[in-house]
Amino acid sequence: MDLKEILSIINSIANPEDGIKLKEFIQNLEDKIHNLREDNLKLQEQILKYKKEIDKAKDYKKTLEKYSFIKKYGIYSHRETGEYFCPACLLNKDNQIEAPLKAEESGWRCPYNSNHYFNNPDWRPPKTVYDTSPWIS
Ligand SMILES: [Zn+2]
Repeated sequence: MDLKEILSIINSIANPEDGIKLKEFIQNLEDKIHNLREDNLKLQEQILKYKKEIDKAKDYKKTLEKYSFIKKYGIYSHRETGEYFCPACLLNKDNQIEAPLKAEESGWRCPYNSNHYFNNPDWRPPKTVYDTSPWIS
């Protein structure tokens, strides 16, 4: 039974004054139902938004699990390939990127952001080759 049916029944049994009061009461209820439906829609949108955020967080964690952190170098290493990856890009929660680092002479650089540079603490500058020419005295 919907509200219109209830209203017609009320109209048929109530005296005119009571009918007007009841109509107002029902109108009030209809307004409330309308507002509740709108609230419900907003809540559903929020739930969807949070579900997406949860999925994103799960993906983020799952991606990180593929790597192990090398404390000594401050970078990540892929557990299967052993390849080095940029920690700044891997740890970026808003835009996680799996960026394989490019080896340079004294460290590694990120292909996505050249400011992401990581020194290799094992690197030593090459020894200067002294001229051993016998002509120099
Ligand atoms: Zn990077």
